[in-house]
Amino acid sequence: MDSPVDARFVEEARKFRLRFACPDCAYFQTESRSCSNGYPAAPHLVTDPVPGSVVIFCKSFELL
Ligand code: SF4
Repeated sequence: MDSPVDARFVEEARKFRLRFACPDCAYFQTESRSCSNGYPAAPHLVTDPVPGSVVIFCKSFELL
């Protein structure tokens, strides 16, 4: 799911230490920077988005 990032998103993500990207997912393979479920990881690698960007959430995300 694509979600536009605004200043409020950035503020709340930092304040509440929200995790939503592959590097914080249980299925992420750190060495190969890939998804063990076979999904493309590239669209979900940004952990600290900036206003004006877009976060693409993965439905299979599982917090480490
Ligand atoms: S399940 Fe989704 S969030 Fe988790 S590593 Fe794979 S692509 Fe990334």
